[in-house]
Amino acid sequence: MLHSGTSPLTSGALDGTAAGVPAEASAGEPNAPGLLRLEDEHAAHNYAPLPVVIASGEGAWVTDVDGARYLDCLAAYSAVNFGHSNPRLVAAAKAQLDRITLTSRAFHHDLLGPFVTELAELCGKEMVLPMNTGAEAVETGIKVARAWGYRVKGVAPDEANIVVFHGNFHGRTTTIVGFSDDPDARDGFGPFTPGFRSVAYGDAAAVAEAIDENTVAVLVEPIQGEAGVIVPPDDFLPEVRQLCTENDVLLVADEVQSGLGRVGETFACSLWGVVPDVYLLGKALGGGIMPVSAVVADRDILEVIRPGEHGSTFGGNPLACAVGLEVIRMLATGDPQRRARELGERLRGALERLIGRGVTAVRGAGLWAGVDVDPAIGTGRELSERLMRRGILVKDTHGVTIRFAPPLVVEPADLDWAVTELAAALAE
Ligand SMILES: *Cc1c(COP(=O)(O)O)cnc(C)c1O
Repeated sequence: MLHSGTSPLTSGALDGTAAGVPAEASAGEPNAPGLLRLEDEHAAHNYAPLPVVIASGEGAWVTDVDGARYLDCLAAYSAVNFGHSNPRLVAAAKAQLDRITLTSRAFHHDLLGPFVTELAELCGKEMVLPMNTGAEAVETGIKVARAWGYRVKGVAPDEANIVVFHGNFHGRTTTIVGFSDDPDARDGFGPFTPGFRSVAYGDAAAVAEAIDENTVAVLVEPIQGEAGVIVPPDDFLPEVRQLCTENDVLLVADEVQSGLGRVGETFACSLWGVVPDVYLLGKALGGGIMPVSAVVADRDILEVIRPGEHGSTFGGNPLACAVGLEVIRMLATGDPQRRARELGERLRGALERLIGRGVTAVRGAGLWAGVDVDPAIGTGRELSERLMRRGILVKDTHGVTIRFAPPLVVEPADLDWAVTELAAALAE
């Protein structure tokens, strides 16, 4: 049973409904246990989700199969930056569903041109290579960097190397997990693709040492999300930018999670005034409706890929472009970024007041916070479960950290309420 032992809560829910408590007398028996059993028996156990079964969502709130409401403070790892069931994005998707959804890239379609043009413009670059998932954007970025290294920089065949960072998360393909240092992600899945060298995150001197004449790219998350919202020292990215320029190396920024509004800017790199050579985008680009990812760079880089050398059946499909275009136009107004900045200050100010009261550290930028929980209180997972019982969904990472990254449309009062509940959960 979910919520047993939970007392009714007065919450910041907009309609006055108590969170974590059935909104209305739900018909029939609770559905969750049976659905959890089906997943347990027939879905591969590659995740360990919280025992909440969501049936619908609107804005920053989701409702489970038994009618209980929760404030979503994960937002599908920032894929739902613009909120669940965003009316503008849903309307764009519905209209496109009635026209055409897939042509393949064997033919042209009428939304690819507008999508790549407006995305390039948002990024201040010239060209876009559309894919679907974040991992595919990363793989594509690796291929582009290697091809650029051989065809433009003049690296000897099969000698290219790419500098990556300890604690990185770039996705789940065999090549990508091969340069992860998370044993859960990596162990048991080798042999791995060679050509990567990993150095300490935040350490520009280590990057300088790792770069040699065969280095084609530095692949970096401007803020490491899965590692626990790790913000590097202020001089790190500018110094890496300079090293890349001096050594004829591409700076490839994985902004799959940090990009598209979350940090209060369109790109986290902009927090330090850094412009990478290549942006890798995903997650929020599809508005939480479609998997949409992209590699964005200038022509002299992206045109190293020639017809037939790379592709994707679904990459750049009409439905993806319809939703992606709407996302780009929302971001072009600057409104989501402004909201992330303003709400983020409010959230992190409130969270920092919990330091010493069960919280040992708070990191973040914009509406994105990593909160380290005092191990004496419990694990991140235990705290996530306590918060779930209070009507707040968060995800733990690396044992002691929980993340707050609600949709950018969250109401200020709901944020305040979430922090109040966190304080109570820490004191439980
Ligand atoms: C989520 C993520 C990816 C992988 O995206 P998928 O869509 O899950 O393949 C890559 N890089 C970063 C930084 C991410 O956060």
